[in-house]
Amino acid sequence: MENTCKKCNETKDVSLFVKNKRLKKGVENICNKCKSEYYNVYFKKNYETLKNKNKERCKKYRVENAEKLKEYNIKNSSIKKEYDKKRRLEFNEKIKLQEKEYRLKNNEAIKDRKKEYYFVKRAYIIEKSKNYYSTNSTSILFNSKIILQNDIDFLNDSYVKKLLTNKGFERKKITPELIEIQRIITKTKRLCKTSKI
Ligand SMILES: [Zn+2]
Repeated sequence: MENTCKKCNETKDVSLFVKNKRLKKGVENICNKCKSEYYNVYFKKNYETLKNKNKERCKKYRVENAEKLKEYNIKNSSIKKEYDKKRRLEFNEKIKLQEKEYRLKNNEAIKDRKKEYYFVKRAYIIEKSKNYYSTNSTSILFNSKIILQNDIDFLNDSYVKKLLTNKGFERKKITPELIEIQRIITKTKRLCKTSKI
């Protein structure tokens, strides 16, 4: 069955009108779309007044029913707590589901975004380190010289490893024991040298 809307003059299915048994057709004269448009405009236009009116009404109710409300709150505090907890859990689950759905739906876009972010970030890091090296080149060089001298003086692992690789050992195959042996050899050589002088 169809009905014609008095506002937009469109003929639509009766399911698109609010039911009203008192009227002849059993439905309202204005379609749901026109009605909601009207209410939207009305609501926006009278927002402040409606808000204030509602506020007043709530306030009045609270004052008039203070005792009753107090009693009610005490009686239902545990129920309310439980309810709030349940609602929170439900909300969290809903958000999780939404996020999962979003991830599934936008898998490719997310991947692209990550890639783009990585490239942008990489370029940024390279640029930053370049700048840092160019402005601090002398101090970096000086520090690295100190570190190297330190490595040589105290026969640190990295330096001993270098000695071993120079001798033809594969970097992967160098064990801590091997490093220890090389360290002793170098120490002995140095001792020999100094005692000769
Ligand atoms: Zn209409």
